[in-house]
Amino acid sequence: MSETIYDVVIIGGGPAGLTAGLYCSRARLNTLLIEKMILGGQVMITTDVENYPGFPGGITGPELMERFQTHCQEFGLQVTTGDVQSIEDQGKIKHLIVDEKEILTRSVIIATGAEPRKLGVPGEKELVGRGVSYCATCDGAFFRNATVTINGGGDTAVEEAMFLSRFASKVYLVHRRDQLRAISLLQERLNANDKIEVVWNSTIESCEGDNSGLTHINLKNTQSGEESKLETQGLFVAIGVTPKTSFLQGVVDLDDSGYIITDYQCQTSVPGIFAAGDVRQSVLKQIATAVGDGATSASVVEKYLAENE
Ligand code: NAP
Repeated sequence: MSETIYDVVIIGGGPAGLTAGLYCSRARLNTLLIEKMILGGQVMITTDVENYPGFPGGITGPELMERFQTHCQEFGLQVTTGDVQSIEDQGKIKHLIVDEKEILTRSVIIATGAEPRKLGVPGEKELVGRGVSYCATCDGAFFRNATVTINGGGDTAVEEAMFLSRFASKVYLVHRRDQLRAISLLQERLNANDKIEVVWNSTIESCEGDNSGLTHINLKNTQSGEESKLETQGLFVAIGVTPKTSFLQGVVDLDDSGYIITDYQCQTSVPGIFAAGDVRQSVLKQIATAVGDGATSASVVEKYLAENE
């Protein structure tokens, strides 16, 4: 029996991967999408999406991703679960090792996205799941009537602070500067929320707890150097993301932060290997831009395959 050689293998099933999957399967390419965990990517841990066009009033992240999946099913996209360990470029054929098995394909679209950045302070790792979390949507409801802290000053931190204020009695937002990075609209909402207090110019130096879990965090003022203790039962770290590219070292060119470098056509440094969405070096990381990348990479793959029969 001859081994299957796919036209395209898409790695990652977030908005970029699913869009690429939709376009490739609709173009009748022999397509396989490989997802490590659950389809939907980071959007699955987003409560409300209110800036994806076509959904006035907003839509929840999981609901939006379910629509993406249903749409892909309409065109018969083949999806499998697996962890891609490596990609070897052998010219016209790429060899992927997925859970110890080999998969052959003529082209690859990498859409592995990004994961929450860790603080890297003492106590953080030990208290994960016992007060320290990277996802307010997933764990917020455990903190009903509790005091919780969010770390970060971007859109995620502000959105998560507001989400947590639905459950918690008090929400601290600790930010290392005196100005938030989040967009003005979110800042306005934050300012109007009585439960949230911003702790400016402060970094978290360590997390401490007892048998019941996190009890407090130790802060340092970046201006005065003064150290203080903040009692909190929950710490939600929202200090940005890092791209999931560790399996690509030496395969395609990455920038200093680990993002895949591509041209405007989502083409990486290796012909036949493309990248789409948050994993790619780009100016904006949104569902809308991931969708654009998914569509672009799929259409360029089609052209690439036609030129490399
Ligand atoms: P982000 O925009 O990169 O912001 C990260 C925040 O964490 C910044 O305020 C940064 O501080 C702070 N930070 C970074 N490293 C830190 C450290 N080691 N210690 C303490 N603070 C640290 O990340 P994000 O908020 O997760 O957003 C990621 C992308 O998704 C962005 O492009 C964002 O616009 C997008 N996003 C969009 C939406 C939406 O459209 N509704 C929602 C969520 C996210 P500085 O400000 O000092 O650098």
